[in-house]
Amino acid sequence: MITTPFEYARAASVDDAIEKLAASDGAAKLIAGGHSLVPLMKLRLSEPSMLIDIGRIPGLAGIRRVGERIEIGAGTTHHDVATSELLREACPMLAEAAAEIGDQQVRNRGTLGGSLAHADPAADYPAVILALDAEIHVKGPSGERVAKAETFFQGLFTVDLGAEEIITSVQFTPVRSAAYAKLHQRASHFAIVGVAAALEIDGGKISSARVGLTGATASAVRLTGVEEKLSGAKAASESVDAAVADAGTGLEDVNGDIHASEDYRRAMIAVFARRALVAALERSS
Ligand SMILES: Cc1cc2nc3c(=O)[nH]c(=O)nc-3n(C[C@H](O)[C@H](O)[C@H](O)COP(=O)(O)OP(=O)(O)OC[C@H]3O[C@@H](n4cnc5c(N)ncnc54)[C@H](O)[C@@H]3O)c2cc1C
Repeated sequence: MITTPFEYARAASVDDAIEKLAASDGAAKLIAGGHSLVPLMKLRLSEPSMLIDIGRIPGLAGIRRVGERIEIGAGTTHHDVATSELLREACPMLAEAAAEIGDQQVRNRGTLGGSLAHADPAADYPAVILALDAEIHVKGPSGERVAKAETFFQGLFTVDLGAEEIITSVQFTPVRSAAYAKLHQRASHFAIVGVAAALEIDGGKISSARVGLTGATASAVRLTGVEEKLSGAKAASESVDAAVADAGTGLEDVNGDIHASEDYRRAMIAVFARRALVAALERSS
């Protein structure tokens, strides 16, 4: 199908994009890589009367250190995240997760900000962003604010983002002992189940565990039951086995669809949580 007619405008800056959004009174949409929005427009599930292109705003893309933290501009493509030497060294989980998104064409166009704003229930970044306890930096007509990953993903395609707001960057403290494991849908590579695990190990014990899950529920969530069982446990695979045993059974409202039944997804949550956690443990030694 073809889209409904729309106007096109290129934003020169973040402020220009916000002004254009505000002036459209809800009729415009931002477009970054277009790899989620354009398919929706072709299906006429989204019918914006104007597209505001944020793909060429200077400074909106890029990966940099900010003190002890790393900042990734919202316009950074999945390819640039996947191939970043800084991320491969300081926070390999994020680069590896980006490398598993879609195919090369999707990774060349799709952006971190677009993926987070769209919040597909099967997208990869949300699990990783939750495990990193990242901050999502947002700007709107009333200025800048910071959203915590934990409260950002609110439901099916629903995030803590106003209609006139734009995600400008994501910031987090890099974690080396972290890993992402995903069971992907063969055609699209979207996650049937994806688990990101970030561990802090102290004196042979797990002092903190953050585990993000995508693909299985309406929006990405933290596996808090698993995290609690791991906290203070010996940093060993036996602890992981015990912690993930009922990871899938305790969750409410697990998806079932043509790609995987609810029961299968529940079973795979434990399997992929184990893989991510064991890989994270291996990175800690
Ligand atoms: C064939 C195919 C396979 C895919 N496989 C995967 C996969 O395996 N894993 C995965 O995670 N994803 C996958 N995707 C989705 C892909 O990663 C998208 O690129 C991404 O979800 C959206 O990023 P975008 O830059 O293309 O956003 P766009 O499509 O341009 O925009 C998406 C939405 O976000 C809004 N938006 C964009 N940027 C911002 C911003 N900075 N601030 C506020 N709102 C913004 C737009 O207004 C729109 O509502 C796939 C897509 C395709 C087409």
